[in-house]
Amino acid sequence: MLNEHYVEMTKQESIIRKIFMYGRERAKVVGAENVFDFSLGNPSVPAPKEFDEAVINLVNTSDSVSLHGYSPSLGNDQARSAIAESLNRRFGKNYTSDNIFMAIGAAGALAHALRSVVVPGRGDEVITFAPFFPEYHYYVGGTGAKLVVVPADITSFQINFEAFESLLNENTRAVLINSPNNPSGIVYSTATIDRLAEILNRKQKEYGHSIYIISDEPYRELVFTGTDAPFIASHYDNTMVCYSFSKALSLPGERIGYIAINTEAEDFPIAVPVFGQISREIGHNCPASLIQQAVSTVLDLTSDLSVYEKNCNILYEALTSYGFEIVKPGGTFYMFPKCLEADAYAFCEKAKKYDLLLVPSDNFGTPGHFRIAYCVTTEKVERSLPLFKKLAQDYGVI
Ligand code: PLP
Repeated sequence: MLNEHYVEMTKQESIIRKIFMYGRERAKVVGAENVFDFSLGNPSVPAPKEFDEAVINLVNTSDSVSLHGYSPSLGNDQARSAIAESLNRRFGKNYTSDNIFMAIGAAGALAHALRSVVVPGRGDEVITFAPFFPEYHYYVGGTGAKLVVVPADITSFQINFEAFESLLNENTRAVLINSPNNPSGIVYSTATIDRLAEILNRKQKEYGHSIYIISDEPYRELVFTGTDAPFIASHYDNTMVCYSFSKALSLPGERIGYIAINTEAEDFPIAVPVFGQISREIGHNCPASLIQQAVSTVLDLTSDLSVYEKNCNILYEALTSYGFEIVKPGGTFYMFPKCLEADAYAFCEKAKKYDLLLVPSDNFGTPGHFRIAYCVTTEKVERSLPLFKKLAQDYGVI
């Protein structure tokens, strides 16, 4: 007999996947060009050609046995050093390879970071802030800790500090943040991060144990012009950055990312070897050798991300003029407007009438909103505008 917990999980259908599948079926009827699928957060621009060239070059010039051989369990030494140097150059850090652990995307990085601070059965809690990535339920639940959700400040989607302080307690072992944020597109300001750091420094002293910030940063480079986007690890010593190359380099299928832990963190330098031990238990065994090496040659590059900011501006201008309330994103390729009725599911069902595929917000821990993933062509965004307008007219807001 299989573990009931996982059997039960197979019955919980992902709403995003459901909408995506609906879109595929609908495309057979009205044509793919007439389905406006804003459901999935898959990058829509190619990886930089330098990445592909690096892969080809490695295959053509390396000794095959060593190229395809096991990498060390903490990651390829040269990749770890190159990542440390890139972060030092760009963010003024003091990292060496000892601060870096190679992981299978942000998901793999988070699996290690969370397990390194959580002890199953101790009553540990991990706090996160709504709206949040729904997979956090599983990422945190799987460690044995309880996920505690701070309700959103829907006027800004910055941190609701009053609610946060009331939920912090002696069981809190980590605060899981995601900025730039999926689904709101909001970037936490320097003032927000400094206030968070001040509270945590105070509470660490009071409780007599560390409270780590685990900073989930797949969208770090997807920041729009003029947005204040602090490097979070520079504002709080006990920080583990969980980074992914999935979004900025458009490499989600290559499953590559890392953890960077601060030199000033309480548990440096033992943390990275601890991550290696966690890998042994969860069968992680490092990302692919070839991809680690290839990515280490393009660390200061990104895909051409300009389409995301362009799409954001077009949608924001048009939708607000149709009466939608939106906190303007500072990055990512998501936007999180308020629905035109209280029930987000009913609203997204109504949007389907116009072949607009939108994700209702309840799964993100913030009812009454919907997520638009505008990682699509600008042409598609522009053709969707009259449909959003009709939807607003349906509700009589224009
Ligand atoms: N965290 C957030 C907020 C995400 O949006 C995603 C993917 O969409 C992930 C983590 C997982 O990223 P990865 O593909 O790097 O595992």
